[in-house]
Amino acid sequence: MTDEISAGHRPACPSCGRATAVPASAHYTSEGTVSYARCECGRWLIVLAGRVIGADAA
Ligand SMILES: [Zn+2]
Repeated sequence: MTDEISAGHRPACPSCGRATAVPASAHYTSEGTVSYARCECGRWLIVLAGRVIGADAA
């Protein structure tokens, strides 16, 4: 019930489980907002509409 995306929600990093940092950039697409955030563990996370859809090694 609380899994729905809401303003201010930060998805968890799939690597370390921490909440992601404030996104460094965001793009608005027809599928939702795609943003990129760097986790404290060093990975860049790709977030679409509040869900992590990908991650890059640092
Ligand atoms: Zn992490």
